[in-house]
Amino acid sequence: MPGGSTIVSPNPIETIADASAPASTPASAVGHQLLALQEQLRHTQYWPAERMLRHQLQQLTELAVHAYRTRPFYRARLAACGYHPGQPITAEFWRTVPILTRREVQDHFADITEGPVPQDHLPFIWDSTSGSSGMPLRIKKTQRAQLAWLAATLREELWHRRDFSAKFATIRRTAWNDAFPPDGKRLPNWGAPVALVYPTGPAVVLDNRSTLEQHTAWLLREQPNYLLSTPSIIRELARHFRSAGLRLPSLRSLRTYGEATGPDVTELCREVFDADLADLYSATEVGYLALQCPEHTQYHVQSEMLLVEVLDQAGRPCSPGAVGTVVATPFYNFAMPLLRYAIGDLAEVGAPCGCGRTLPVLTRILGRASDLVVLPSGARRFANFGHGTIASMTQIVQIQLAQKSLYDLEVRLVTRGTFGAENEEKLRRMLNENLGENFRITFDYRDAIARAPSGKYLDFVNEIPDRRTS
Ligand SMILES: [Zn+2]
Repeated sequence: MPGGSTIVSPNPIETIADASAPASTPASAVGHQLLALQEQLRHTQYWPAERMLRHQLQQLTELAVHAYRTRPFYRARLAACGYHPGQPITAEFWRTVPILTRREVQDHFADITEGPVPQDHLPFIWDSTSGSSGMPLRIKKTQRAQLAWLAATLREELWHRRDFSAKFATIRRTAWNDAFPPDGKRLPNWGAPVALVYPTGPAVVLDNRSTLEQHTAWLLREQPNYLLSTPSIIRELARHFRSAGLRLPSLRSLRTYGEATGPDVTELCREVFDADLADLYSATEVGYLALQCPEHTQYHVQSEMLLVEVLDQAGRPCSPGAVGTVVATPFYNFAMPLLRYAIGDLAEVGAPCGCGRTLPVLTRILGRASDLVVLPSGARRFANFGHGTIASMTQIVQIQLAQKSLYDLEVRLVTRGTFGAENEEKLRRMLNENLGENFRITFDYRDAIARAPSGKYLDFVNEIPDRRTS
């Protein structure tokens, strides 16, 4: 963020749905920082391009010198480009830094994540992701990176002018296994970041390891004003409400995250819920890449917090209308520096937005998508298959699950070396635990797993004959 020195956080921050900061007391230290950052972000979103570029090059200069001095992996990489520690990074130099693949991050994980970080960025926070292209990864972050994450989350809430006194609902994986149906979990407020700064209404959470029917019954009972979940859940929920003739009049708007969405989901939400939908483009390893404009359907890149490049096959920046590879460099995570990291998504570059914000525009993101699991009973549920465990199995380079029948799953794997019967058994057990069934699970080893013809990467694909959702 501009004036990066203001991002110093003394306290661990809890994640959404877990924070129980008293809503009516003065904002915490983190809350004050978040408010100060919002004030900066209100201005920077209108900065001329040259001014934003100066800010970004300054951040890249700091990141590069840290990476060079503390991470052997980057020392070699940057030295090969003729880099001298501390030299100001220019746009021309930056284009000579090689693109960092997900496979490289997996293979050199210790070299990238082990090493000192400035004291005022601590503590560390660990996370994991199954990735945009089915390539699991552990993530090491800092408190400072987390503050940037919260600042972008709050910015999105403010852009879309949500009423914080309303009731907020989310259907998602919960870490503490305490939000299962039928009741889910009730919280007194929205959690971080909003409740760190403003008084809020209540929040309700339902674990996504539950069926569409259970989601529906819970929503009808809770009557929330806002709903946050993945596009795969929202799409199927809307279809289910439509076919059953159900309504949810309390609902004012919806938000999606975690998967590639499309105009079909937005239209469904309008038709079935008479509500708008906003999408968040984020990734655990880099934070928010882009947020949907409050006035248009396109996304604004979060240029204060990271550099996003969309490149063609020759490595040149794409022009508006062209689709290219998304390459991201987050400025504030010094624990796991990612320099020109190809996240595994494709995006279409857009022309400047009519809203007046100068933040660059993406019109479409082709990332990870997912079909729902069909249980033998016919009930459908989110394909939640335990990203943390998969990311900890370091032999897995890439994974895709295909449902072949009501009783059969095929695990497609690209592995580092031999996977082995013991790992197969561990994965079998873990998948069935997470999917809540007893599927017959077979393994299919491959050299690579390709994207769907749409350009999206399906991490769970329904291949049941005649059952595929239309
Ligand atoms: Zn806009």
